Amino acid sequence: MSESWLFGPVLSQLNSGILVVDTAFRLVYINHFLERHAKLQLLDVKNKVLFDVFTDLPESWLRRKFETVVSLQTPAFSSWEQRQYILKLPHLRPATGSSHYMAQNCTMLPLSDPQGGKYVCLLIEDATDAFVYQQHLQQTMAQLEQSNRLDGLTQCLNRRYWEQQLKLEVQRSERYQTPLSLLLFDLDRFKQLNDRYGHQGGDFVLVELAAQVKQLLRDSDWFGRYGGEEFGIVLTNTDKAGAFEVAQRLCQQIANTSFHYQQHKIQVTLSIGVAVLQNFDERAAEQLISAADQALYQAKRSGRNRVLCFDSGLTSI
Ligand code: GH3
Ligand code: MG
Ligand code: MG
Repeated sequence: MSESWLFGPVLSQLNSGILVVDTAFRLVYINHFLERHAKLQLLDVKNKVLFDVFTDLPESWLRRKFETVVSLQTPAFSSWEQRQYILKLPHLRPATGSSHYMAQNCTMLPLSDPQGGKYVCLLIEDATDAFVYQQHLQQTMAQLEQSNRLDGLTQCLNRRYWEQQLKLEVQRSERYQTPLSLLLFDLDRFKQLNDRYGHQGGDFVLVELAAQVKQLLRDSDWFGRYGGEEFGIVLTNTDKAGAFEVAQRLCQQIANTSFHYQQHKIQVTLSIGVAVLQNFDERAAEQLISAADQALYQAKRSGRNRVLCFDSGLTSI
């Protein structure tokens, strides 16, 4: 008994694409799935050359693949991870944001007719779900990685990540013999500011200040929130004179800025401690922080709104 009666209905209802070409790449067959997605009729494309019908195909790659399938009489595969799609077809999902085209897992099968004629059957499975899932996963991972690095309020680096970068920069500085400097700054009389404008006013100033500071730095500098209203800046490839200059610019610029909060114009000043990397032992990063912290303490003691460098204790504005 022949089962040929079932092939028609199965092929036309199959939720995968089937396309068959002969060795001259002329279309012999496309099933209903492809007719629907490519908006074509088999009758209109039969015997036409595949590459004339589907003009977006990766022609030379596909020719090589098909020729290998015919000559070796073995199947070949292509997954969406290697090549998102072979046939450029719109997918039928609501807007995914990541791609407008159907991701495909494709199998190329060798076929022969009873007279010995050779053909290749291209089986196309819709893998858009997997593709979209992977895109979402990658986006989520990137966001997670980002939020792992940033301080939630000010969007500068959080302390843990900032300290990691400081340690890496110390190593880099040792390897390439380049200078490295550190600034630590603390807002002056911030408690009073909180008392006067409320904690939200204080938060507002921290956010705006961080944004301002970011603008004054180079992309290669590392700016992080060290504690409540204390921040650190790792200045790569910067010696003491350079670091002092940056710190002074920062100090002056912030002192000359008004932060507009509700109907208030808020002014703040900074005290900044500067230290330069001196040694390369395993505690170098901690020692650098401690030196900058001592300079910052001195800056506070000697009147605030100023920059002091560790060891000289002389340079101030
Ligand atoms: P000084 O000039 O000596 O630094 O005086 P100060 O008032 O700034 O004193 P200190 O640095 O010791 O106090 C920091 C204050 O900053 C205490 C705390 O209430 C406030 N603060 C810390 N973190 C935050 C924050 O995330 N938001 C707000 N609004 N305030 C904070
Ligand atoms: Mg303070
Ligand atoms: Mg403080």
